[in-house]
Amino acid sequence: MHAPAEPRETADALAPAGRLLITLRWAAGLSILLATALARWVLEIDIPAGALLAVGGVVLGYNAALVLVARRAARPATAIRRALGVQIALDWLAMIAVVHLTGGIASPALIYFVIHVALAATVLPPRRARGLALLCAAILAGLAALEASDALPHVALADIGLGGTFYRSGEFILVVLFFFTTTVLVIAELVARQAEDLREREARIRALNEARAAFTRAATHELRAPVAASLALVRSVEQGYADDPALQADIVRRVGQRLDGLRELIDDLLDFAASREATIAAQPLAPVDLGAALSSAIERERPIADEKGVTLRTPPRTSVRVLAGDPGLCMVLGNVLNNAIKYTPPGGSVTVQVAVDRGAGQAAVSVQDTGIGIPSGDLPRIFDEFYRASNVKNARIVGTGIGLAAARAMVEYYGGAIALDSAEGKGTCVTVRLPLANEKQQ
Ligand code: ATP
Ligand code: MG
Repeated sequence: MHAPAEPRETADALAPAGRLLITLRWAAGLSILLATALARWVLEIDIPAGALLAVGGVVLGYNAALVLVARRAARPATAIRRALGVQIALDWLAMIAVVHLTGGIASPALIYFVIHVALAATVLPPRRARGLALLCAAILAGLAALEASDALPHVALADIGLGGTFYRSGEFILVVLFFFTTTVLVIAELVARQAEDLREREARIRALNEARAAFTRAATHELRAPVAASLALVRSVEQGYADDPALQADIVRRVGQRLDGLRELIDDLLDFAASREATIAAQPLAPVDLGAALSSAIERERPIADEKGVTLRTPPRTSVRVLAGDPGLCMVLGNVLNNAIKYTPPGGSVTVQVAVDRGAGQAAVSVQDTGIGIPSGDLPRIFDEFYRASNVKNARIVGTGIGLAAARAMVEYYGGAIALDSAEGKGTCVTVRLPLANEKQQ
């Protein structure tokens, strides 16, 4: 199964992380203020209260600014990811300030880095989360080195037993760094993997739902055609246009044929629905015999071409497997063929070709007709649902404009592409490209 369009999925997945960070930061900023006030004026611990209150104030200040920016922020995933990166960087600066002001390498506040690494890992791929955890450890190592070498004055909190000179001890620094680094690395790895797993699952479920909707559209469309044709035939008898018993018998035979086709289609749909139920967790698409799918679509459409006097040229049967779903693939090919025949006047021709490009891992089915074509002004919207070109509406050729939209949705779900090339009055060529099933799947 191919992944759905990256940006929307990622933006949806990232936005809540940004909001969570903002909520947590309100709590963090207020906690810094309250904890400082409590420690300094209630417990009377000698801490650099002024500096810590300033850090708390700065945290609340930039959080307020981030709220304002987030309100009018652009939605694309890249923008959200960048904004999250900025938030994480600002938080780390604040954290390192708090750690420095509460005893450096021996600070009890050190543990809070773990929370931030875990949060960042919920939105980052595992590789970047690991990098971030290492960066976090490197920042702490840098701070410890600066304090140990007196490049940065060490804040000794003697009132809580942190008055010693162990911040200068290489062994102590190494031990703390060892436990700190392993903890943040493990947390980053665990959280990032779980989060990635969840995001992938969500994307698969979303793709599955989209495919379902596309399939339902395609299926309904296919079901309607034989019913409409049968009704038209029955009405012609009912209204007395076919009094000749031989003609009536022929009509009954044709209605029977359409109903047979309909029953087959319903059977296929039921099979398909059953197979979907079993694979609800979005199994990869299955290899489908392209030649067989094409033959069955051609078989269904050939009588219509014959009846209309349109020559249908088909290629020799190919034995190639593509990654798709059956009967979805049949429907796609049937829709394209049906259009070519429907929009080609009697005497014209429809030519079907299959090309396999193993190098590119693709098979292409093209359906070329010599029909009425599509006016260039209608081409940009021709794959839109319910859109029909002006010339077919003027010529009162019936249709609903769902066929191509449904076909495109299905083909894209298969990881393929559908292209349409047309010149009004000359003809149309529709090409459906599908990924080949690889050797293992063959
Ligand atoms: P239906 O939903 O019953 O298939 P439709 O054929 O009108 O109705 P689509 O198959 O989606 O709908 O095609 C959309 C439009 O594209 C058609 O209405 C027609 O204007 C144009 N079109 C598609 N295929 C061809 C073709 N081979 N030649 C000319 N016009 C075409
Ligand atoms: Mg159509």
